[in-house]
Amino acid sequence: MGRISAGLRKSTTRMSDQVGAAFTKRKLDDEAIEELEDILVMSDLGYGVASKVTDRLREDKFDKQVTDLEIKIALADVISDILTPLERPIVFGMAKPQIMLFVGVNGSGKTTTLGKIANQYTKQGKKVLIVAGDTFRAAAVEQLTVWGDRAGAPVMSGSQNSDAAGLVFDAIKRAQAEDVDILMIDTAGRLQNRTELMEELSKIIRVIRKQDPTAPHHSILVLDATVGQNALMQTEAFKDTADVTGLIMTKLDGTAKGGVLVALSDKYGLPIHHIGIGEGIEDLENFSAPVFAAALSG
Ligand code: GDP
Repeated sequence: MGRISAGLRKSTTRMSDQVGAAFTKRKLDDEAIEELEDILVMSDLGYGVASKVTDRLREDKFDKQVTDLEIKIALADVISDILTPLERPIVFGMAKPQIMLFVGVNGSGKTTTLGKIANQYTKQGKKVLIVAGDTFRAAAVEQLTVWGDRAGAPVMSGSQNSDAAGLVFDAIKRAQAEDVDILMIDTAGRLQNRTELMEELSKIIRVIRKQDPTAPHHSILVLDATVGQNALMQTEAFKDTADVTGLIMTKLDGTAKGGVLVALSDKYGLPIHHIGIGEGIEDLENFSAPVFAAALSG
């Protein structure tokens, strides 16, 4: 739990210090509850989660003396209750190829995460084909090719500005012909042109479903933990259009904002597959609710 806790400890230090300073030993009255709620909201947990914590404390401890430790325990319990049902590894079915779509805004860590996961699959002996679905940015294709080389998986790309859905169609045909196990599709993430982007994603999904009505088997939203509350807006933007089936949160190695994962889990209840804890190929962990809850609540 080294690096995740090191990163999250930044948020914890802030939250934990503030809880410690305010509650070393104090009567839990309305004023104290309000103060605690403010600290939790400021730590990116959001109002929903903050009031779950204070409701729980109110039930058990109202008008009694509380210590910071009791508050941290209540906090860890609430976080754990929210996250535990969402802890879910990526599981594959029988259909071949299994089709995975990676969506998210530029810079969220989509390409890096796809590369890390591709590497895990090739190591397990699976045949992987990667598709560079962001046909607008030449740099994106180059970067994906580097990850494909590292992972030992071919990367299929189109010419610049070519139709991404057309490329995906060709990739599915190739995957079928070459007996590929897992087809991993990287997509564009230029949220500044949201309508166009969402239309492109819908088109890609339509093309996929024409080939296999049960696909995409996984539609994974990649979120950068360091953007804090913006992660909620990004989830809102992608969840329906891309039919998101699960989340990966990146950059938890270096952020003070891990609390947002709890806020968005409380709101959307999407499964959480992995967390990114660095830029290297091995820097991906299976998501563990208890580890995360412990690291966040201090
Ligand atoms: P994309 O535009 O969504 O494809 O994002 P990239 O995969 O290009 O990642 C953007 C930047 O974030 C790159 O510099 C990555 O090395 C970095 N990055 C991705 N995941 C992580 C992570 O888990 N931790 C850290 N520290 N950096 C990451």
